[in-house]
Amino acid sequence: MDREQALKELELLQKKLYAYNAASSSLFLDGVTVAPGDTAEGRGVALGILAGEEQKLMTGTEMGELLDFLSSGMEELTDLQQRQVKELKRHYEEQKRIPAEEYMEYTMLTNEAGDIWHRAKEASDFEMFRPALEKLVDMKRKFAGYYAPEKKPYDALLDRYERGADMEYLDHFFTVLKERLVPLIHAAGEAEQVDDSFLHLHYPAEIQRKFSDYLMEVMGLDRNHCTIGETEHPFTLEFNNKDVRITTNYCEDSLADSMYSVIHEGGHALYELGISDELAYTCLTGGVSMGVHESQSRFYENIIGRSRAFVSAIFPKMQEFFPEQLGNVTAEQMYRAVNKVEPSLIRTEADELTYCLHVLIRYEIEKQLIGGSLEVRDIPQEWNRLYQEYLGVTVPDDRRGCLQDSHWSGGDFGYFPSYALGSAYGAQMLKNMEKDIDVWGTVSKGDLSSVTGWLREKVHQYGSSREPGEIVANACGTFDPTVYTDYLTEKYSEIYGLKK
Ligand code: ZN
Repeated sequence: MDREQALKELELLQKKLYAYNAASSSLFLDGVTVAPGDTAEGRGVALGILAGEEQKLMTGTEMGELLDFLSSGMEELTDLQQRQVKELKRHYEEQKRIPAEEYMEYTMLTNEAGDIWHRAKEASDFEMFRPALEKLVDMKRKFAGYYAPEKKPYDALLDRYERGADMEYLDHFFTVLKERLVPLIHAAGEAEQVDDSFLHLHYPAEIQRKFSDYLMEVMGLDRNHCTIGETEHPFTLEFNNKDVRITTNYCEDSLADSMYSVIHEGGHALYELGISDELAYTCLTGGVSMGVHESQSRFYENIIGRSRAFVSAIFPKMQEFFPEQLGNVTAEQMYRAVNKVEPSLIRTEADELTYCLHVLIRYEIEKQLIGGSLEVRDIPQEWNRLYQEYLGVTVPDDRRGCLQDSHWSGGDFGYFPSYALGSAYGAQMLKNMEKDIDVWGTVSKGDLSSVTGWLREKVHQYGSSREPGEIVANACGTFDPTVYTDYLTEKYSEIYGLKK
């Protein structure tokens, strides 16, 4: 075999992996949008087979031999080819270390646990979910040893969502957040409260749909490459850098819910659409990590979308869509309303300021759970204690407490911190962006093109062709969480009239 031939074969293998992925994504999308209710079983069979085929391709002898051959002459390869070989080798070796029967068992367990979690949440009964969660924690600790035997189990899991992040990095990050944000939240709670009652009038879904179209236009999302659908939980699904789908959920007694979901998912979509063509159909396409992905979605949602400049720019149009509801409201009142701070029970409904504390609570629990110092049965008690301590709210039941998120039922331990990291990366990106372009001058005209252009150059184009840490350094410089806490302190002290 010569090098050219090997590279061609590797290209084809990656395209096959892409094809399996695209097929699975289509089935998933169909299931959550237009498929009839009682059809999940058949899709489950198809998805299981596709996942198995993908796994076979990824760990097969053909892949192994190609990677061995190509890595023996790395210096002859271009930068991108080297990256591909390294990335595939990482996946290959990791998947090889997991015994096939344990992988099957784990897949089945997460399928089952998803169902159990749903029912337990509805019944608000943690005990119902406990046995499945205990098995998941055991398996995940074991898997951590396969992923990275040299690391502590929780570090190995964290690394899968944000390569390079570990407990030492996150302990420092969250300590800064806790020290600076808890007092700020308490002070905002004691100040005069913001009126957001006009956000909860009747907002017909039919008009909200048109408003979503408008928001996508402002964001510069090309409708020939990105559509919007409706699902229970909003998400972004990328097929490739020319085909991305976002979804939202219309709530007729709340304007901000869907509005900020569209902007958030739109931020994920812009990232995927901005990835360089030369990475298409390889393992290097797609956003690089959960943290970097969230840095983009939360940048558009909060830093831009909840800024005074952006709200003022789109407000006249909002009044056109909703003249009865917003006719007597000012842009300034809208700005304050969408930034109302209110310690609450549910993470996905939290405001920009309290959001990270919801994440911190999950981080502290996961750290103890995977580390072995907290038993699954003690989760509700620990959860409720931390909500009281950090947010001052009393958790009335498990449905609104430790059963609210689906992540653990899918085995996703170590995922949550990326939401908070992403928010913090975004604040640092803003600071650097302000040095290069007139961010607020353009945003106040409703023009996001230079903001997106900056992010495309510093982040989007690279896809996964660089390590998350390199991309963060490229856009943020040295990571410093105080930039984020300063940004929040500045913004919310002004809104709530607090002394800094
Ligand atoms: Zn997101």
